[in-house]
Amino acid sequence: MKITDVKFDFYEWERPTPLSNGLHTYANSGNTVIRVETDEGVVGHAIGGTRENEQASREMMRDLMIGENPLMTERIWSRLYSPKRRGRRGMETRAQSSLDIALWDIKAKVAGLPLATMIGGFTERVNIYIAGGYYAEGKGLKELAAEMEAYVGYGAKAVKMKIGALPMAEDAERVRVVREAIGPDVKLLMDANCAYRAYEAIQFARMVEPYDVFWFEEPVQPDDIDGYAAIAARTTIPIVGGENEYTKYGFRDFIHGSGAPIIQADGTNCGGVTEFMKIAAYADAHGRDMAPHGEQQIHIHLLSAIPNGLLLEFYPVEYDPMRAQKYQTPLLLNDDGTVSVPTAPGAGLEWNTKQMERYRL
Ligand SMILES: [Mg+2]
Repeated sequence: MKITDVKFDFYEWERPTPLSNGLHTYANSGNTVIRVETDEGVVGHAIGGTRENEQASREMMRDLMIGENPLMTERIWSRLYSPKRRGRRGMETRAQSSLDIALWDIKAKVAGLPLATMIGGFTERVNIYIAGGYYAEGKGLKELAAEMEAYVGYGAKAVKMKIGALPMAEDAERVRVVREAIGPDVKLLMDANCAYRAYEAIQFARMVEPYDVFWFEEPVQPDDIDGYAAIAARTTIPIVGGENEYTKYGFRDFIHGSGAPIIQADGTNCGGVTEFMKIAAYADAHGRDMAPHGEQQIHIHLLSAIPNGLLLEFYPVEYDPMRAQKYQTPLLLNDDGTVSVPTAPGAGLEWNTKQMERYRL
């Protein structure tokens, strides 16, 4: 089997309301849609980000893939990973991740298995948390509480909210109100998106300790690994992160240095399926659980394949209605706050071209 072509299409759409976290605002959403074609007619599907530097890397890598056997995923990974020519971590790793995922889609289709079974196979359903609680104009405590309560109504046993954009006392009040709204039995997660310095994060963690916070995500910049350890030593709340870390090398250092008990490697960023599985195994060997950041459609496969899969991040359609429309078979939430692992062969990333045509660039 040989790769004959790698094709890209670009889509972008506006969100109903801009999405704001502790550091950034996102008005638009979008995807690069990737198709790896082979001489045997099997096509590998994947999606990636839309940034120009990410796509430039993808186009450089494309030429290195044509003519290769798509089933030789380790070989192609090594061929694409070139610190000197293309960079060690960042947009180039994201580019490589999307191409690697498309190869695994081919491999699973050739095997006639869902990707989850192809790469391991541990469970048929996984627990999720709903990622919401963003900042928005005109959104006060009442609206925030109503939103988080609605997620519990969908069956969610865990919910996540943003922190870090407001003065600490105001953010702590938001956390208190959300805990009150969701009741004592639902896990409450909070995410600062790197908005704090370590000394600030310690202060904030102490302020919200009474509200039974399940985890405090990305308190500081991803490279401040010592900061993670310093915060963890001074609060009872688990300090977690990893969505902005890349490759097994980056995670080796993050796992050792940060002490984070839960690792949020994102398969679409960290180096694809190939690298995610190594990171998950390394985390397992060090007693850490995985709760991957980002795209639920692919992570259902990765999380359900491993023994140390803890929680799937699940984005509700409230923030991006295209979530339920952009794939041919979108992942749906069960009433009990779980998601079932798809049974069709492959990774389930086939784009809904017809539905999405008006957003094509
Ligand atoms: Mg996050």
